[in-house]
Amino acid sequence: MEEDKEKILIIPCSGIGKPSGTIARLAAYYIVEDLLPKETDTVCLPLLVIGDEKTRQQVQKFPVITIDGCPYKCATKSVQSSNGKLAASLNVLQLYRDHIDLEVKSVVDPGPEGEKFARIVAGKILDEIRKIKREKEECPSQSS
Ligand code: SF4
Repeated sequence: MEEDKEKILIIPCSGIGKPSGTIARLAAYYIVEDLLPKETDTVCLPLLVIGDEKTRQQVQKFPVITIDGCPYKCATKSVQSSNGKLAASLNVLQLYRDHIDLEVKSVVDPGPEGEKFARIVAGKILDEIRKIKREKEECPSQSS
């Protein structure tokens, strides 16, 4: 991460055994790598979980959007317990309730419908990014 640049952090679930984790990560990569590479970044969730100081400082410095893959919500809880700037918390399973017609094939290969669902989740992340930017414009004193 470029240390001095202002960023919004997107932190997805790191559950490697769950399709919802795959969707969370795919959605995060759409944003961080494809759509808004200059404005967003991510950190390694396990580093935050083990209390890595540099990662803690990053989530304390920048607004964070988490994408959890199950009710344990480790991404959200880890940011909260690190005194991070949690700006929004999304949950793949909750979002999936509105899209159960889309088949997420497997953990390794979500398939075309799974990828479509990941883009829908990415759209929700974009909505949250817009909210963060709007709030910042309305209240510029809220520095990151
Ligand atoms: S949110 Fe759930 S699936 Fe994801 S890393 Fe945590 S426990 Fe695993």
